[in-house]
Amino acid sequence: MIYAISIFSIAVFILMLLVTFNDYLPRWFCDHIGWHLTPTKQGSDGCSLTGTCPRCGKSVLQDSQGNWF
Ligand SMILES: [Zn+2]
Repeated sequence: MIYAISIFSIAVFILMLLVTFNDYLPRWFCDHIGWHLTPTKQGSDGCSLTGTCPRCGKSVLQDSQGNWF
C-alpha cells in the first residue's frame, strides 16, 4: 500500500514538473533567448515578414534564415 502511494506521488510530482517545464521553459526562450514560435497570422511590413508570437504575444520579425525574433 505504501509502495503504491509512493509510486503515485512520484507520478504526480513528475506530472507537475512537466507542467511547470512546459509552461515556463518555452516562455523563457521567448524572454531571454529571443526564440519565438512561428506566428499563425503573418504579414509583411514591406521588407520582412512580421507576425505575433503565439506564445508570448510580442510582435516578431523573420530573419533571412527563417527564424523569428
Ligand atoms: Zn515569443
